[in-house]
Amino acid sequence: MTGINAARTAGEAMILFDLKCHTGHVFEAWFRDGATFEMQKLTGEIACPICGETKVSKAPMAPRIGKSRNEPQGIGGEETKLAGELAKELERLFRHIEENADYVGDQFPEEARRIHQGEAERRDIYGEASESETRALIEEGVEIHRIPWIRRRRLS
Ligand SMILES: [Zn+2]
Repeated sequence: MTGINAARTAGEAMILFDLKCHTGHVFEAWFRDGATFEMQKLTGEIACPICGETKVSKAPMAPRIGKSRNEPQGIGGEETKLAGELAKELERLFRHIEENADYVGDQFPEEARRIHQGEAERRDIYGEASESETRALIEEGVEIHRIPWIRRRRLS
């Protein structure tokens, strides 16, 4: 089998999959087994750390030689390292938002609109919005930013 490394941590077997998102980013993720991977893939729990895309598949890659996780081999390893740094960047961003903005959940579109129209207190908020709601807000000139993962993660 290619693209799969197995390791044993704390008496529990985990499998490392090389994954590829719909846009072509390659990243790594640990799973208890293949079935867990398939299930999390179906429920959209696996997201590309670079773009947040949840359409992912196993990446066909050359088998790795050696066990050291500190010596990435080939292009896949480099991309993985990059993905890890981006994930850390996102963590910092999330923390910043969490400390400086109010969580409004799925009330986000409504609340963002009220703030924009001066009906609610001017402040930073974060929450979830669907694709069409997001587009509508942008068209109305409401200032919003998209953050990958935010729709899958509550920031607290
Ligand atoms: Zn991606």
